[in-house]
Amino acid sequence: MDWHGSLQAGEENHCMSFQSLGLKPELLRAVTEHGYTIPTPVQARAIPEVLAGRDLLAGAQTGTGKTAGFTLPILQLITAPGVERPRNPRVLVLVPTRELAAQVADSVKTYGKYVPVSVTCIFGGVGFNPQADSLRRGTDIVVATPGRLLDHVQQRTIDLGRIGILVLDEADRMLDMGFIRDIRRILKLLPPKRQNLMFSATYSDDIRELASGLLHDPVTIEVARRNAPIELVTQHAFEVRKDDKRRLLSHLIRNSDWGQVLVFTRTKHGANRLTKQLEDDGINASAIHGNKSQSARTKALADFKGGRITALVATEVAARGLDINQLPCVVNYELPNVPEDYVHRIGRTGRAGSTGVALSLVAAEERGLLKDIERLLGRPIQRAQLPAISEPPVRPNRPAAREERYVDPRAVAQRNGRQRGEGGPRNGNSNGYNQRRGGHPGGYSSGRSSGRSQRG
Ligand code: AMP
Repeated sequence: MDWHGSLQAGEENHCMSFQSLGLKPELLRAVTEHGYTIPTPVQARAIPEVLAGRDLLAGAQTGTGKTAGFTLPILQLITAPGVERPRNPRVLVLVPTRELAAQVADSVKTYGKYVPVSVTCIFGGVGFNPQADSLRRGTDIVVATPGRLLDHVQQRTIDLGRIGILVLDEADRMLDMGFIRDIRRILKLLPPKRQNLMFSATYSDDIRELASGLLHDPVTIEVARRNAPIELVTQHAFEVRKDDKRRLLSHLIRNSDWGQVLVFTRTKHGANRLTKQLEDDGINASAIHGNKSQSARTKALADFKGGRITALVATEVAARGLDINQLPCVVNYELPNVPEDYVHRIGRTGRAGSTGVALSLVAAEERGLLKDIERLLGRPIQRAQLPAISEPPVRPNRPAAREERYVDPRAVAQRNGRQRGEGGPRNGNSNGYNQRRGGHPGGYSSGRSSGRSQRG
């Protein structure tokens, strides 16, 4: 992948080697085998500082190579000759999401292939006991989300008294997710003398406050300007009625050559609903969000990465930390409330030097949010003309009549039992799209050529 030209626009390209950063041969071997030749900017800057024992405040988001930036030097520090190896963990990496935890733990295993280091991944939604067993056997590095970590503290299945290095990864996201109290509780359990590394894509006042209480004389690294990826992403906004968004999205997916698309909704419920609707429109879709079981989340991500699904519908939080390479298109089905989140979202495409497309579907009530985003970007987002979208096969006021004719008596009985009793909605899903009962999979538009050339 081409990291070193365009990805870090505005950064000087060090073009240095991993060798020159002072890493030991076992780590260099793992890195080389993994196919990395040149450190990314965050790695070039962070690795020597972490090796020197400094605290670090790094402004770097997912996609910059930050994980190796802290993992490699940590692996070196804890496997240095003469360093004690107690049973209790010596490194704690706190992350906001399960996916990020799994990814970081995988990175530790990858880069630590040739050094004697063990890692335990701790997050909710999966069994407690296997984690407790792993901790009992002894582990060097714990990668954890805050809630489950505190469960282990409460159950006395973990002792944090030997932690010598703390990493707060995606600290801004952890605060956004309301983890600040958990973090403060965890900090109280750690030995005061330790090395602290903090990574955050954005710097709010809360982040600064957390950093100032946590970090001692930190080295500050700013590798990617907040809007660095934006130069690589073509952005368009569609001004569209809220009720037309779903049809527009289905149409766009069908009539583009994106291959795959990551779609953001604001709520978990919205993600579920949209996923179902896309599937009804004949588009393979899966949802990924915090209410899904871990196995469902893992499967959705694996299916997406494996190209088995076309649209991954995600909430903000779930999508953070997802490392999906070469994603051609991100759609903001709903705009985020916080303008910075827009930048994070569209940073999912145009990664690693490739170009991407970011589309936003903006309803009238979201125009203010769009303005805020444009203010943050310092320029307007180009409006795209709405394409002609074909009509659904069944017009809104028809389905009840059709259903009366075709549906078997059990369905009629079921419908009569419903509260409102109107014909049509699937699974009682009352979201404004319920008129399209007749919309069988693949239903309303794909084969209709009129939809492409005329206004719908
Ligand atoms: P991260 O920001 O840590 O999530 O890393 C983003 C992606 O960059 C991951 O897929 C890494 O495997 C990849 N990566 C990290 N460091 C390098 C490097 N030096 N050269 C090429 N790819 C890298």
